[in-house]
Amino acid sequence: MVDTHCHLIDPQFIKDLDAVLARARTAGITRIVNTGYDTETSDQAVRMSRQYPWLAPAVGIHPNEAADQSIKEMGRIRELLENDCVVAVGETGLDYYRDFSPREAQKELFRLHIVLAKDRNLPILIHTRNSIEDAISILKFEDFHNGVFHCYSGSYEQAKRILDMGFYISFAGVLTFSRRIRDLIRKLPRDRLLLETDAPFLSPAGHRGKRNEPAFIIETLRAAADILNVLPEELETILDRNASLLFAFKE
Ligand SMILES: [Zn+2]
Repeated sequence: MVDTHCHLIDPQFIKDLDAVLARARTAGITRIVNTGYDTETSDQAVRMSRQYPWLAPAVGIHPNEAADQSIKEMGRIRELLENDCVVAVGETGLDYYRDFSPREAQKELFRLHIVLAKDRNLPILIHTRNSIEDAISILKFEDFHNGVFHCYSGSYEQAKRILDMGFYISFAGVLTFSRRIRDLIRKLPRDRLLLETDAPFLSPAGHRGKRNEPAFIIETLRAAADILNVLPEELETILDRNASLLFAFKE
């Protein structure tokens, strides 16, 4: 099972990373997309993959970082992309909910990530919060079709347009307790679905309010299999194939 979006570079994992990784292995996790959210954590994700090759790094600057400053730092992200181990550009996107950065600067930062992804022929990890329409417009304008809308929270109608553009849609532990997400996932084509933990955030039911970790994705897998009325093993095979196609994992 692949955890397609996780932040093992987060300081919350410093103390017990080896124990977290051991539990992930025991739970059957074979690969984790270890996602940076600024230059420092992106650099760290690349370094971690040297020690743990099954942690596939993604490099980018999250829209909640100060966008004006981040635009100046994109040269560092470009440098990090020269490492062949990097499987995706991100986390990037637009966040109008927290709105820590001016929207115009966020849009520019998002565009810069798209340009790098095009250049390196890599998928992007897209974060949206109250911003799906603008994200779709920018992706259309840039004529870019490779990536995933992570921790999806939009409508079915928006999901259809995103799928038509060629993107994948990923769900986190929220699907274990959100009726709206359960109803949505049922209507989506299985060959375009992914699951993730977004750990240390967004714990599934049973762990809410506590730190999330990759091993918990199995609970989300079971919940999704239940919603879709398939065996967890069957769904796992489909999801792993989707992840391999999107991220072009080596080996
Ligand atoms: Zn994330």
